[in-house]
Amino acid sequence: MESVHFDHAASTPVDERVLEAMQRWWQENYANPSSRHAAGVAAAEALDEARRRVAWATGAQPDRVIFTSGATEANNVAVFGHARARKQHGRHVLVGPLEHPSTKMPALALKEEGFEVEELTLDSSGALDIEDAGARVRPDTVLVTNMLANNEYGCIFPVRELTRRVRKAAPHAAIHVDSVQALGKVEVDIETLGVDSIAISAHKINGPKGAGALVRANDAAMQPLTLGGGQESGLRAGTQDVPAICGLGLAAKLAESEREESVAQMTELTGLLKSEINGRGLGRLIEPGAPTQALLPNILSFIVDGPPAEVFLHHLDARGVMASAGSACQSNKRSMNPALFAIGLEEDEARRLLRLSIGKKSSREEVLRGVEVLEGVRSELARHV
Ligand code: PMP
Repeated sequence: MESVHFDHAASTPVDERVLEAMQRWWQENYANPSSRHAAGVAAAEALDEARRRVAWATGAQPDRVIFTSGATEANNVAVFGHARARKQHGRHVLVGPLEHPSTKMPALALKEEGFEVEELTLDSSGALDIEDAGARVRPDTVLVTNMLANNEYGCIFPVRELTRRVRKAAPHAAIHVDSVQALGKVEVDIETLGVDSIAISAHKINGPKGAGALVRANDAAMQPLTLGGGQESGLRAGTQDVPAICGLGLAAKLAESEREESVAQMTELTGLLKSEINGRGLGRLIEPGAPTQALLPNILSFIVDGPPAEVFLHHLDARGVMASAGSACQSNKRSMNPALFAIGLEEDEARRLLRLSIGKKSSREEVLRGVEVLEGVRSELARHV
């Protein structure tokens, strides 16, 4: 049975071109890029090329690209690094309403260092409440962090508008943007966004796991989390993972240079998926933030008819369909995901939310095969109630 990959927001397959670009850096040239011999210099040059590629894909300067072990680390470095370096200007931090735990957890941890941490809010459509966000920015705000595109529902946040308001009211604030889900689907240009840093991850853009970057717009002071040999401009000590970083570099270049065609293909397939879900009465589509905020072309959420998403997922998995629950199944309404709460979903509906996410390599045939399985599972489960 051929599998159906409806979980690209969680991870993507490595592109063959990326795999090939990584190959030689494991055995043919395994030198430490800090070594002074020719092999080491060649490895350092490979890192430089990856730096230029990531910079090109994100509108940054190459020397502002800090390679990390992924976006989790990049988000941690950004949150702690920016906030701690600006303590003399204030201790107020604003965190987006739907941040990934790799941003939210470090931000909340800042409370133990005496920071005041507030979360931004959503309006009743699930869109970022930009008026409320603007009103919360203060002269002592030192960090504002809000993702560009959300991993659960695919909503694209108005980061430029947020930036404009932050710059007006908080002269010392750093703005950090998790761009993990956005890269390759919407433009991620650090200058146009007007932010101080962004985080990206290779495995979401057909690159390897364990590689990512913190990309900065300027060289404003930041405190590192790891101290050691001074690699990555002193912001991330440790010998760089040359193969993974080469993979990240090419993956970022391809994500941006092939963005237009992959967006067209993903939009078409998501449209097909939506019309099949509607046409076959498989569930109710959920689009938090729409129509004010645009949605990513590859993520779709819907409430299935029948048992909780976890049960559905289990049956789908047994038939080779990989998908994901839309809200990690919170145990009660108070801890329900803010986006689902904002749009007025009931607990029971939130538990039945499925997220399907397609990728660059998805095909019509795969989508239709997945829909058939969904329908089969739905009918089978209906017989058991
Ligand atoms: N931010 C977002 C929006 C994500 O979707 C993810 C991955 N689930 C991360 C951060 C963490 O990235 P990584 O897996 O590279 O640590």
